[in-house]
Order: sequence, then structure tokens, then C-alpha cells
Amino acid sequence: MIADNLSGRELNAWSGASFACSCGKRHELNTQFYIGEGAEDNIVSAAAALAPPCCGVLLLKGTGFDVSDLNRTLRRGGYKVCEREIADDADFSVLEDLNPADDIRAVIGVGGGYIADCAKYVAAYAGIACGIVVRAHSSPSFLVPSSALSERGLPRLYKTVTPRLLVCDPSKLPESCEYNAAAFGAIVSRLVALFDWKFASLVRAEPICKEIYDAALGEIDTVLSRLRACSKHDVFVRRILLESGLRLSALAAMSGSSRLYSGGDTACTLALQVLRKHEKNDLRLQGENEFLFSLILTKIYPELFAARKHAIFFPPPDNNLRLEKMKEYFGADESAVAPVLSPYIDADSLKLYDYRIGEYEDELKAELAVLNTRINGAYKIFRRLYSDDGYFLKSYLDVSEAKLCVALAPEMRSKYTALTHMKNMGLTDGYLI
Ligand SMILES: [Zn+2]
Repeated sequence: MIADNLSGRELNAWSGASFACSCGKRHELNTQFYIGEGAEDNIVSAAAALAPPCCGVLLLKGTGFDVSDLNRTLRRGGYKVCEREIADDADFSVLEDLNPADDIRAVIGVGGGYIADCAKYVAAYAGIACGIVVRAHSSPSFLVPSSALSERGLPRLYKTVTPRLLVCDPSKLPESCEYNAAAFGAIVSRLVALFDWKFASLVRAEPICKEIYDAALGEIDTVLSRLRACSKHDVFVRRILLESGLRLSALAAMSGSSRLYSGGDTACTLALQVLRKHEKNDLRLQGENEFLFSLILTKIYPELFAARKHAIFFPPPDNNLRLEKMKEYFGADESAVAPVLSPYIDADSLKLYDYRIGEYEDELKAELAVLNTRINGAYKIFRRLYSDDGYFLKSYLDVSEAKLCVALAPEMRSKYTALTHMKNMGLTDGYLI
């Protein structure tokens, strides 16, 4: 069992893990971990996992991250180093224009989750190896084999690679309440992604790995019980969150899918990001928003069962209305919106999905109960991670904004979630009016 074999092991011992699973697959993690105090000092021996010395390495850094020590150490180790900075809101085309020189054999991203996505994309696009030096723990999706970037102002998910190397000196991570809360939110919100994964497997017969699923759930339970016993001032909160986030992203890497990071919570958050960017309003970190939408979705997902039993007619979803709203609220042009609209489902398929929801209602409701109890229990921990104990939450997200994001979420990620199904039932069109 994956959970039994890995959960007790220190993260560095997950390097190169490989298991024959009861789902019939062999799950492998081709990543070498160097986590601990002074880990960056060993960058030369670590980088040998990517390319031999004398090769070129592209150091891709996020805005504000100092990589001069890494650059110097790699040069002294025999590597030719090329350094590039990527702005926080760079479009994917900026990464394609980087065009690494022929002697560049590896890219090392230095920063947080966004720069990791950029490095994975460059590596996949240029066909070179990828490593990550973690300097921010707020968005711990480093090992997921996909990159969340934007194309013409709208979010897109690209299939990329799992980094072969991950280096992190925890003492270099920021001491920030917001970063801790974001990491906690990102971890706990995987519960929504797990429900959506289970939903897609029962209703659409999509593949799921029960062992990965159980291991992820066990990891979330562990972090909840450890943080319940901590205060925000405890020095080890940051380390617990870093390692837990990495374990979850390692499980996603072993599953070979981005399902664990493509739940309704993430899709709603992406809609909020585009909306607030267009309106030039303040935006909290991704994991903070994911947690807030997870709370909202625990109230909305039960409607899935209630609505199909009522004899009320809901008209089919209106993609033209969505297109108009995305032009109005996101400032996106029609040619950018059209390709991201989730396709209509034919009537026969919808009838089959509806039949299966009835057939598996008990199992789905039991899963939803698991989700609700944990997320609502986690809300107190989440609030108390902030220096103001979550006081700002009273005025952060208003109802109309949240409804718009919930209604447009299925256009932000193409994975079929419970929210996508609610759209197809015509249940969320009312949120757009
Ligand atoms: Zn499996």
C-alpha cells in the first residue's frame, strides 16, 4: 500500500519511490529531494541529477528572488549559467520566446509555485531536464506534471513534466502568516479535488487510483491534527505545511494526473484571479482563495442531489451568456473566450450521468459528508493562522462576486467536476443574472 509505505517516511526518502499498485499501474516518482538546512549549498551535486557539469543551466527566477549565490556555486561547479527573471503575470508566450540556447541542458526554477510552473513548461517545451529550488511555500504544487499558466489573459493548464530535482532550505522560506494560511488552504482544499475525482470516476467512469486517493486523504488528516495542536507562532508550522504540500504534489506526480489540483475550488479561484486582475482589485494568494471557495462549495454541492429530485425544469446551460459575461467581467476578447467554453453534453450522456448519480447517491453523499466535516473543522485553524485571526475575511469576498466565479468555473479548467455537472444541469445559470 502506498499510504503504509510512504506516510511514515521522511520526505527525502521519497526520492525515486516506485510501487506496484492495486489499480494495476506502477506508480513512480522520478524526483530527487534535497530538503534541509543548507540544502542550496549542495546545488552542484544535486544538479548532477539534471545534467553533467560543463553543460549550460538556465536559472529561471521569480521577481524579487536573489539567485546570486546559486549562480556562483553552479559556475564554480563547472556549469555555464544563464539567468532570466519572469514577471508574476507572464503569458505562456513569454516562456516560448525564452528559446534556451543549444548548450542549455536543464532549467532550474527558483521561487514559488508559479515559477515552478514556468520552469516545468520551459523544460517540456525545450525537451530539457527540470529542477526546482523552493523559496516560497504558499502554493505547493511543485511536482504536479502540469503547468497552470495564462494564455491571452485566461487560465490554461498544460501537460508538462515532473521535476527531477527539488531543493529546499526551509530557513530561506518567508516567515509570513499569509504564506502559511495559503499553504494550509491549498492543502485542505485538495478535499474538494478528491471529491470531484471520485465524482468523475463514478459518474463518468474516469480512472481513479484508490490508493493515491486514500494516501492524499490520510495526508490531509495528518496536517489537520498536527496544526490543531499548534499556534500560529510555532516555528514548525511552516515546515509542516511545506512537507505536507510536497507530499500531496508527489502523490499527484505518482498518479500521473493533475486531478488532485483541478477541483472546483481551483477553478473558482482562477475565475476570481482573472476578475480581480481586470478590475484592478486586491487579491489574496491562491491557496487562501481556494480554501474560501472550498467552504462555499460545501454548501453548493449538496444541491446536486436535491435538484434532480425536484420536478422543476431547468433550461440547458447558456454558453453565449457565459461568453458575454467573460467579455464584460474579465475583459477577454471573443476569440480568446470561445476555445475555453466547456462543451455541451449530449442528452443521452446526461441521462446516463444522472442515472449514475442516483445509483451511487449513498456513496457520493458519504464522500460529501467527509468533505464537509473536515473543511468546516479546518476553518477555525485557517482563521487563526492570520495575525488578525481572519478578521479581514468579513469583507473580502461578496456574494455576487462568488456566484459569478462559481458559474464561470467550468470554463477555467477542463476537468469534469461536480460543478461542471451542475452547469450542465442548468443549475448555475441563475448565478450569472
Ligand atoms: Zn494506483
